[in-house]
Amino acid sequence: MNVDNEEIKKFTDIASRWWDKNSEFKPLHEINPLRVDYIIEKVGDLKGKKILDVGCGGGILSEALASAGAIVTGIDMGETNIEVAKLHLYESKLTVDYQQITVEELAQTQAGEYDIVACLEMLEHVPSPDSIIKACATLVKDDGEVFFSTINRNLKSYAFAIVGAEYILKLLPQGTHDYNKFIKPSEMDKSARMANLQLQNIIGMTYNPFTKVYKLEKDVSVNYLTYYKK
Ligand code: SAH
Repeated sequence: MNVDNEEIKKFTDIASRWWDKNSEFKPLHEINPLRVDYIIEKVGDLKGKKILDVGCGGGILSEALASAGAIVTGIDMGETNIEVAKLHLYESKLTVDYQQITVEELAQTQAGEYDIVACLEMLEHVPSPDSIIKACATLVKDDGEVFFSTINRNLKSYAFAIVGAEYILKLLPQGTHDYNKFIKPSEMDKSARMANLQLQNIIGMTYNPFTKVYKLEKDVSVNYLTYYKK
């Protein structure tokens, strides 16, 4: 199975805090409106669109997509993450179909069933990102749209995403990210092209430690988002 249990444990250990906006998950809450706006800017109205959220964690993205009118399925291999995500629906009064299943397994039964697949901040936590990208491409319908986000691999991303974010600013727990698992846009694109996905757009996500503001910008040297079509 393309799952690293140590990676999953990093998230399930702190799963009770998924919805605490001042916790380790603060960065995800803060970037969420940016990525939802990006998805809507690219695909238009989400009303009635079938969306799969791969590596959904506690459901931060899934709920935002559902509240924009999408019919959302969220999958994650962290059992506690899925439990927290399901519980939070009682508070938000939204509907999301949460399941503990791998994307590869889902691809065996639901090929071509989704209008949109999003796999955000997850590829850098799995043994084979290639296999995830391929399964996402299988799950989306022809002409459907796929979004990925991850962290670039270079000296600057090491300095910002690990030293800066984990050790100096303490935005994330130490050990959250492993430099060797970071993915260059060229590497992502190679896997995506092999999976029949065509790159439509790529955009960087930057953090200014002085203003504490995240932004979508041209600079893809650290965090970045990609938009593909099948
Ligand atoms: N996508 C969410 C959460 C990102 S954190 C967001 O951006 O808000 C990364 C998530 O990926 C964690 O919840 C972790 O449990 C999950 N994950 C890691 N490996 C996985 C795998 N192989 N299959 C499914 N989920 C996985």
